[in-house]
Amino acid sequence: QQSNGNGEMNQLKIPEIKFTKLFINGEFVDSIKGRNFETVDPRTGEVIATVAEGDKEDVDVAVKAARTAFDQGPWPRMSGFQRARIMEKFADLIEQNNNELAALDCIDAGKLFMMGKLVDIPAGAASLRYYAGAADKIHGEVLKSTRSLHAYTLKEPIGVAGHIIPWNFPTSMFLMKVAPALAAGCTMIVKPAEQTPLSALFYAHLAKQAGVPDGVLNVVTGFGHTAGAAISSHMDIDMVCFTGSTEVGRLIMQAAATSNLKQVSLELGGKSPLIIFDDADLDKAAGLALQGIVHNKGEVCVSSSRVYVQEGIYDEFEKKLVEKAKAWKLGDPFDPNTRQGPQVDKRQFERILSYIDIGMKEGATLLTGGKPWGSKGYYVEPTVFADVKEDMQIVREEIFGPVMSLMKFKTIEEAIERANNSKYGLAAGIVTKDLNVANRVSRSIRAGIIWINCYFEFDLDFPYGGYKMSGFGRDLGLNALHKYLQVKTVATPLYDSPW
Ligand code: ADP
Repeated sequence: QQSNGNGEMNQLKIPEIKFTKLFINGEFVDSIKGRNFETVDPRTGEVIATVAEGDKEDVDVAVKAARTAFDQGPWPRMSGFQRARIMEKFADLIEQNNNELAALDCIDAGKLFMMGKLVDIPAGAASLRYYAGAADKIHGEVLKSTRSLHAYTLKEPIGVAGHIIPWNFPTSMFLMKVAPALAAGCTMIVKPAEQTPLSALFYAHLAKQAGVPDGVLNVVTGFGHTAGAAISSHMDIDMVCFTGSTEVGRLIMQAAATSNLKQVSLELGGKSPLIIFDDADLDKAAGLALQGIVHNKGEVCVSSSRVYVQEGIYDEFEKKLVEKAKAWKLGDPFDPNTRQGPQVDKRQFERILSYIDIGMKEGATLLTGGKPWGSKGYYVEPTVFADVKEDMQIVREEIFGPVMSLMKFKTIEEAIERANNSKYGLAAGIVTKDLNVANRVSRSIRAGIIWINCYFEFDLDFPYGGYKMSGFGRDLGLNALHKYLQVKTVATPLYDSPW
């Protein structure tokens, strides 16, 4: 469904901010200390709203609510079918509020409004439906005991889940974690990123409207080192699921280990290679490579930030890529013609520019971009570096912005070796018409998802997560549902025991 023109766009530019408080036990409440923080519009740098700043004591209250809802409430006890009906209602409400939710993510995160409206929000609602469809099919199995025992397994919800999520996809991240946890019968606390707290609070409101019982879904807005750390080190949270930087992932795992050994699932950084072979369609490959780095302004953990092109087509590819990058349209993310909005905040904007500076100092050649765009807001031009060496910081480290390193390779063996030469292993792309090459490379690369002749192809049914220092545990697919379940074995003798 397309927007019907400027009238709707203007109206949507400043959605009314209805929810700015913590959502605990079914109520919007102030933080205990009464503190607030500001969330900023990256298009202008102006404050959108002040939001309650939750801290350790608020997390404690939220965890108590979630624990009570888990130990005594109806959610884990009702049939999966009943949970599914509530989740379907939640999905309906999300679809009904699509415009407002897309507008909130647009002003809070600088995301393209149309992308939110057509992709993120509908896919988020669909993820609730996907896991709702699985909620009544959770069961264990009868075991074939080697002795005279009747034994079986039960699949039980893990308990209280803690979700710590990032700012790059506020909607997808929220629902990608919440939907399987709800289906499993868990109760939970979610801490959205401090840069993008607004849509999470709206989702909490819709969950209540849909009939999710009080205490099942709690949202505590606040900062990482306070509210986030209180979740990862909490003694009464059974599992923490995190998406964010590798650096913070390490802190979360440490906190989990030194507190109550809660289970941990981490989806972390990436530096994903896209390998383009000589037989590729040049125009398509250049388009894919550009999309791979500018999609969501490069604030994507699976961005194709290392592009390896085989020598036979390298020069022509470089020309095409630069042409396309120069023509890429930046602008207000509400404008349906805009392809790239602003980076999420000033810190991220400055971080990206400082990496561009590092690349130049390291001796890479700037082919295009490299500068802020426009007179206000946090926009960065699509940037392509060539003459890049494998040991440069811009190739080793995750930049999380529209900055690509373009490199040349000769043989398939070299491409595989260089693609794997990273501490990360989240995603990889291969462009070739040769099936044998595609199969060989996809098996040789150590990454959680491989795209052949495409990029960013996600599906609710595709498990998603990392190899190596990109983390462990999988979001999406039925793998994510099983993450929120634990297995209990029950055994009983078939005959009277001789003892
Ligand atoms: P970025 O550096 O790109 O902002 P982070 O990994 O820092 O990404 O943030 C992802 C999420 O982790 C956010 O919700 C943030 O508040 C949270 N976070 C940051 N530091 C910590 C921490 N020490 N403990 C728990 N959560 C944290």
